[in-house]
Amino acid sequence: MGMRDICPRCGKTYNWIETRHVGNRTYYYAVHVEGKRRSLCYLGPESYEYVSMMHEGLSLRGMISDKREVEYIISLLSEIKRNIREDEAIKLADFLEKTAKELRSMYKKDNTQ
Ligand SMILES: [Zn+2]
Repeated sequence: MGMRDICPRCGKTYNWIETRHVGNRTYYYAVHVEGKRRSLCYLGPESYEYVSMMHEGLSLRGMISDKREVEYIISLLSEIKRNIREDEAIKLADFLEKTAKELRSMYKKDNTQ
């Protein structure tokens, strides 16, 4: 599997995804187990595909704030870095370099690079 499961809500790894059915709706929760304690992060009422997409970082729809998205991306990247194949690493590095340049040119117009 490679990458561990990172909760898109809090950025910590979760142990499993739990579903709850209310009427004909399904709600998804990330379950965190710490010792004997369990905590749940609500992920949303949508399909499991949505949850796994979020997990893979392909969609950040439903996130509450920009700050959380950034934290999620950072924690996801730190995790990916440990388990990535060479071809994927190169592809990701190219994308990150391009993105980094775009971000810098958006917010640091005086910084020539
Ligand atoms: Zn969580």
